[in-house]
Amino acid sequence: MTSNHDIAVIGGGLSGFAAALVCAAAGRKTLLFAPKGPVDRRTSALMMPSIEILRRHDLIGDPAEIGTALEKIRIIDATSRLLRTGETLFESSEAGVEAFGYNLPNADLLDAFAARAEAEANLTVIDAAASRISGKAGAFEIEDGDGKTHSVSLIVGADGKKSSVRAFAGIGTREHAYDQAALVANLKLSRPLDGCSVEFHYENGPFTLVPGGENNANLVWIDKRAALDAAKADPGRLAATINEKSSHLFGHIELTSPAFIFELMSLTANRFGKDGVVLVGESAHAFPPIGAQGLNLGLRDVESLAEALQSAELLPSGAEWADAVSNAYEHGRRRDVTGTGLFVDTLFRTLIAGFLPADAVRLAGLTALRSLPGLRKSAFRLGMGAR
Ligand SMILES: Cc1cc2nc3c(=O)[nH]c(=O)nc-3n(C[C@H](O)[C@H](O)[C@H](O)COP(=O)(O)OP(=O)(O)OC[C@H]3O[C@@H](n4cnc5c(N)ncnc54)[C@H](O)[C@@H]3O)c2cc1C
Repeated sequence: MTSNHDIAVIGGGLSGFAAALVCAAAGRKTLLFAPKGPVDRRTSALMMPSIEILRRHDLIGDPAEIGTALEKIRIIDATSRLLRTGETLFESSEAGVEAFGYNLPNADLLDAFAARAEAEANLTVIDAAASRISGKAGAFEIEDGDGKTHSVSLIVGADGKKSSVRAFAGIGTREHAYDQAALVANLKLSRPLDGCSVEFHYENGPFTLVPGGENNANLVWIDKRAALDAAKADPGRLAATINEKSSHLFGHIELTSPAFIFELMSLTANRFGKDGVVLVGESAHAFPPIGAQGLNLGLRDVESLAEALQSAELLPSGAEWADAVSNAYEHGRRRDVTGTGLFVDTLFRTLIAGFLPADAVRLAGLTALRSLPGLRKSAFRLGMGAR
């Protein structure tokens, strides 16, 4: 049996669901391959420009209904290095905004997208993986696990770091694996964070408490994999380490969820759009969760996809249209993705580099950030995604 659609979006993570909704809203018959996976218990700090993308495309309602406003960012140098930088506080009011963004539970965000998908007449969601892709722009064939074949003109790859869509399109990557990993867990603090995201910078990476409403916090702790594994293996030791690393600034801290560890790598695809195929989210780029850039960048992909679809809106679905969309998308994404990759990688390497010149650069940078209003404004803009 064969079904015909204009677009297939492969992958039902946050980037894929958002991309599918935008494709359908552009008036194209869209098929989303979204096999159900385990619940994603992470939260995402989304900066205001990303919240605006979500609102503009009607993907969420009021972000305050599901998330917590991020009004301040406090950076504490907790290293024992020779040159230490003390504390730096950024307040959103300085940038002239009520909040830098919102911390949103990934599962609630996905539920909001799924609810929108049910009401979108142009979108069909199937709970199946794409098992085989063949053909070319304007005439792709995709098989699902039940042996059904789907014909589409354009493919959107949203199938994560190991993307089979990217491999099918013959798009290579530049990759770098880090020694560090990230441990995430939900916490209850004795004293609330009051909308302030607190980053303790340690030698092997930051230990960040992100506000999760009332006395709740979401921990993202970056450290050497062996240290995280050892802490996770012993819940008593994990709780003690978390209390110690927080410098007891928020009173006693309890774990309210199991801990999960994520490998860290950076990955950038050599192209983002080509021959009727476009890549969004982690199929196109993946970075360590430093400065909360990953999904923020994925949502900017979705915005660029909407623009690429609009630029070709007068063409009927087919090879010429699919080529036009993938070329416009490639053109629109290059600067932003490359710039963000460089920003995150440089930041991460500077944070973990333990040699004196890097310490001096970090010290000079943070001192300047504390005292120079112009530089602080530029830092706000960079952190919020301006390139
Ligand atoms: C610890 C941690 C904290 C983070 N915090 C933040 C943050 O605060 N802010 C931020 O902006 N970003 C953050 N990120 C990054 C963010 O989580 C990712 O950018 C985002 O989740 C990627 O979403 P995605 O949809 O691109 O990929 P994924 O979530 O990996 O989704 C890919 C989907 O494709 C599916 N798939 C694979 N193959 C197929 C196939 N053949 N057919 C159909 N489906 C397929 C998979 O099942 C999966 O559901 C964080 C990342 C980590 C690791």
